[in-house]
Formats: sequence, C-alpha cells, structure tokens
Amino acid sequence: MFLEMAINFCVLFTFSVLSYWPFQNRVRFHIPFPTLHPLLIGLISAITGLVLMHTAVRITDSIIVDARMVVIVLSGIFGGPIAPLVSGLIIGGARIFITEVTFDSIIAGTGTIVGGLVISYFTKRKGMSFRNSRFYFYYYIAQTSFILAFLMDFSWKAAAQIVYFIIFSFLSFFTVLFIFRELDIHFKKVNMAERLAETDFLTGLYNNRMFQKVTEQITSDANVPFCLLLLDIDHFKKVNDSYGHPIGDEVLRELASRLRRASHSYNGIVSRNGGEEFSVILPNAEKEMGMEVAETVRSAVESTSFKTTNRLELNITVSVGVSTFPNNGDKIQKLFNQSDIALYYAKNTGRNKVVHIEDTDKATPKSAYN
Ligand code: GH3
Ligand code: MG
Ligand code: MG
Repeated sequence: MFLEMAINFCVLFTFSVLSYWPFQNRVRFHIPFPTLHPLLIGLISAITGLVLMHTAVRITDSIIVDARMVVIVLSGIFGGPIAPLVSGLIIGGARIFITEVTFDSIIAGTGTIVGGLVISYFTKRKGMSFRNSRFYFYYYIAQTSFILAFLMDFSWKAAAQIVYFIIFSFLSFFTVLFIFRELDIHFKKVNMAERLAETDFLTGLYNNRMFQKVTEQITSDANVPFCLLLLDIDHFKKVNDSYGHPIGDEVLRELASRLRRASHSYNGIVSRNGGEEFSVILPNAEKEMGMEVAETVRSAVESTSFKTTNRLELNITVSVGVSTFPNNGDKIQKLFNQSDIALYYAKNTGRNKVVHIEDTDKATPKSAYN
C-alpha cells in the first residue's frame, strides 16, 4: 500500500510540475488562444487524474484511493473556475467506469463530479489563489472522507483507511503547493530582475539597454519613418551644486514624467540614456511633427517651474536635438550621432532651443551612408 501511495504521489508531483511550467505567467502569454487556457489546464489535470486512478491504492474491489482531488483543486489556481469543472467532470465520469460499474463506483464518481462543481462555483465567486486553495482542499477532503466512510459502512476498518488517506492527501497537497509557491516566487524574481535591467531606477523610464533594443527593432522596418529627439538639461550641474543631488534627482523624475505625458498621445517611447540626457522616439513622425513635439516639450519645461519637496520652484530649460529616420541615418548609431550633433549645436548657439540636424551645417549628407 505504501508503494502504491508513493507511486501516486510521484505521478501527481511530476504531472503538476510539468503542467505548471507552460501556465505560469512568464511563459503563458506566449501560448496562443488565451481564452482556451483554462480548458487546456482542465484537460491536463484530467489526464493526470486518470493516470492517478490507474496507480491508485485498491482498498476493496470497487473502492480505490488516490490523489485525484488534489489535482482538481490545484487546477483552479492556474485555470480559474473552468479547470476544476472540466477535470472534475472527466475524472468523475471515468471513475464510474474505471472499476466495474457498481453502486460504489457511481457514488465515488458522482462525489468527484460534485466536488469539481462546488470548487468551480466557489472559484468563480471568490477566486482561487495559493493562499486560499487550502480551504478548497479541506472541503474536498472532508467530502471524500465522508464518502469513503459511507461506502465502508462507517466501520473501524474504514476509519483506519480514512486516516491513512487524509495523511497521504495532506502530504501530497502541501508538498505540491509548496513547490508551486517556490516556483512562483522564483519567477517573480526573474521578472523583476528583467524589468530592472530594462528600466532606469530613478525615473522608471527605459534605460539605455532598452533604448538600444527598441531602436534596433524599429529601424529594422525601413519603411516606417520616426524622429529621434535627444534632450539635455541646460546647466544642470548648477542645480546640483546649488541645491544638492537629491533635489537634482527630483528634477530628473519630474522631467521624466513631463516627457512621458507630452509624448503619450504620439506613442512616444521615452528613455533616460544617462545622467540628465533623455531621448524620445516618435514613431511614424516626419521632421515637422518631430520638431513640433520637441518644441512643445521644450516650452512646457521652460514655462512651468519645477516644484520640489522643500518648496523650491526651479526654472529649468532643456535643449533638444532632432533627427529623422531614415533620411538622416539608416542605422541607430548614425541617427543617434546626428541627434547628438544637433543637440550640441543647440547648446553652442544659446541653449533652451530645438534644432533639427538638417537645419545645421553639420548634417551628414545622405550620400555618405547610402
Ligand atoms: P549643459 O547645459 O552644457 O548640458 O550643462 P550641464 O551642467 O547640464 O552639463 P554637464 O554635463 O557639465 O553636467 C551634467 C550634470 O548632471 C553633472 C552631474 O552631476 C549631473 N547628473 C548626472 N546624473 C545625475 C543624477 O542621476 N542625479 C543628479 N542629481 N545629477 C546627475
Ligand atoms: Mg546638461
Ligand atoms: Mg549632459
């Protein structure tokens, strides 16, 4: 009996963990037809339940004990109400026929189906999480224990079997749940690390690494023009020198959110490329639109002072260099270089202004890179 229980546990564990991988949130969104995922999870759980019943502990000719209810409960965590419904129906239906069709098998199978229905109903109403899944499990184990006791005429022999069943189910359920939770924590950490690797810690904008990634993608489609705006705060060192670095950081954060707001309606992609230098990619924008947005940003920075937590009101200005893909560069390095030249042209000719590379005498002629 112990060996059968051990095999049952191994089957449960293997199937649960294998079916966990595709449906944890990191990978899940790559799988097509998301609306069918709950159904799929229900089916995978049903298959697991069928294998579990094949390796079940046989108590009498028509009474078998296994971990099928554990699998039905766990399916609700990833599959919502549909999964326990589907797995409960299939496993319960199969239970009726897996041994000879007898009174016992009909009661046991119906019990499994009812359990699946009840779990599905409450999962729909209350949701199922790692935290509350144990209550669904307690319900199911109570119901199954009662059915077992009933089928064995509430005998002393039944009591011993039921205690055995409860211990086995608890061990199975909480071990698998523990592994699920550990995997979940692990994946959340990986997600967080990936996000941190792509975002700038101070402002929450994309960092330079993500900027490279986005621009490489966008420049691979040569038919879609876009503008690259490079912004640099004028005399920012003075802000740090006069008010301290933390106030400088506040200004950077405020500028980041102004940039985000200003470019939002143009689907602009804003990054902090380093220090007090920012960039905005404006998809589908030719020179005129790029210049218009850049000018809006510049004048919005100039006209509204930056309020700091220590009640200062700082007047900041920015200089902006603009270039357009693919006219001013067909590779991001070239384009970036052109916006940078335009930016320093703006700096050298008075700051607080927007300059397009074509309006300087420094633009690389198209023939130089074509
Ligand atoms: P310019 O108009 O020529 O751009 O002058 P500037 O003073 O802005 O330029 P400079 O490159 O000399 O100075 C940039 C300053 O930005 C220097 C540095 O202290 C500051 N800085 C860079 N990163 C940060 C940051 O994360 N926080 C704060 N508070 N300051 C930063
Ligand atoms: Mg500066
Ligand atoms: Mg700078």
